[in-house]
Amino acid sequence: MNILILGSGGREHTFAWKISQSPLCSRLFIAPGNAGTASVAQNVSISVTDFKAIAQFVTDNAVQLVVVGPEEPLVRGIKDYFAAHAALASIPVIGPDQAGARLEGSKDFAKSFMQKYAIPTASSATFTYETLSQGLSYVDKHSLPVVLKADGLAAGKGVIIAQTTEEARTTLQDMLANKRFGEASAKVVIEQFLSGIELSVFVLTDGKNYVTLPEAKDYKRIGEGDTGPNTGGMGAVSPVPFADAAFMQKVDEQVIKPTIQGLQAEGIHYIGFIFLGLMNVKGDPYVIEYNVRMGDPETEVVIPRVKTDLVALLQATAEGKLNDIQLEIDPNPAATTMLVSGGYPEGYEKGKAISGLDKIREVTAFHAATKQLPDGTVVTDGGRVLALTATGTTLEEALQKSRAAAQLIEWENKYYRKDIGLDVLYLNIN
Ligand code: ATP
Repeated sequence: MNILILGSGGREHTFAWKISQSPLCSRLFIAPGNAGTASVAQNVSISVTDFKAIAQFVTDNAVQLVVVGPEEPLVRGIKDYFAAHAALASIPVIGPDQAGARLEGSKDFAKSFMQKYAIPTASSATFTYETLSQGLSYVDKHSLPVVLKADGLAAGKGVIIAQTTEEARTTLQDMLANKRFGEASAKVVIEQFLSGIELSVFVLTDGKNYVTLPEAKDYKRIGEGDTGPNTGGMGAVSPVPFADAAFMQKVDEQVIKPTIQGLQAEGIHYIGFIFLGLMNVKGDPYVIEYNVRMGDPETEVVIPRVKTDLVALLQATAEGKLNDIQLEIDPNPAATTMLVSGGYPEGYEKGKAISGLDKIREVTAFHAATKQLPDGTVVTDGGRVLALTATGTTLEEALQKSRAAAQLIEWENKYYRKDIGLDVLYLNIN
């Protein structure tokens, strides 16, 4: 079958890499893709939110399956767009419709959903500009630290953990009265701070049945020891040693099952990935957030561990036949190190020539933001540039291979964290 992937990051390169290995895939397109995806798929210069151009391309090229990488097209309703057009309605799109995408697009919706279906999460209350004074009183009585979240999408920047009541009051006013995050902070969720260790669990559902993919832990901060500003993610490991069978059983029963059942009860026919951002609080899972797509860089360690044919898996998802699939997972751990442009997540330069890609062995370089110039040179084209994924018989070996490759690849002002995975490896977190 002909398949179109939407997106241009490391997550989408990983999807393309895996899908291109399937005998079920005839032609593979990716819009817009990057220099790395061009080696396994045909890059198509269309934006992920240009639904009209996507529809035209799908029709012209007999595309039979669309895999959506990032959240934006989902939140903007690509699925609904396909459903509303007769020529597209029969083409499966892996990803939820706009109603389902609210799990990520509105934190207020996600919190109400969790409360309604008794899914463990931090206690919270939501306020608007009209209820600002009640919000301030709520903050005054709240324990510290306290978490304030812009309701809508804010590129990972809309969450503030306030250490003092004064900071929480100022932040709340700034979000609601000064619209610090525009429309995204027209509502603000004020939430109890949860203390524990974070991990991510990924589910693929056909609306009724589901499979649980390997869990992962990502490293969000720019600096070693998880310090400094937040990024899109500096690396990841899978599996997560502290997510033992007993914990995963709780995740299944207390989080995944009620989530799938809750979606059904809401009349949401959810087809696609669900990313559960969890906090392990003394052995119990709490949901920090839902995302309606795979994570990046978690995909770069999760998908390489999935042995099952990804096209078969996605086809079964589209057809409501996921219970026919026996998911096969590689027990070997995987690790990825993200190489970024110096200065990221603040200002950085693009267009730096990358060398050394031909030197790496036993490691896959998933391109996150690269571009190929007409003379063939591959250059940096964003903040997060390359994810270097390795597997090994131990996590230590996978990390060592990934870090060794990170040294071999060069460009002016390259930066990466050398401590990815070391916390779970050496600190014996439990
Ligand atoms: P991202 O784009 O990184 O997915 P987001 O903007 O969607 O983030 P959340 O995932 O809800 O927002 O929060 C971002 C981070 O803030 C979390 O990964 C977690 O580290 C921290 N955080 C959020 N809620 C809480 C909480 N209740 N207690 C403790 N930490 C929290």
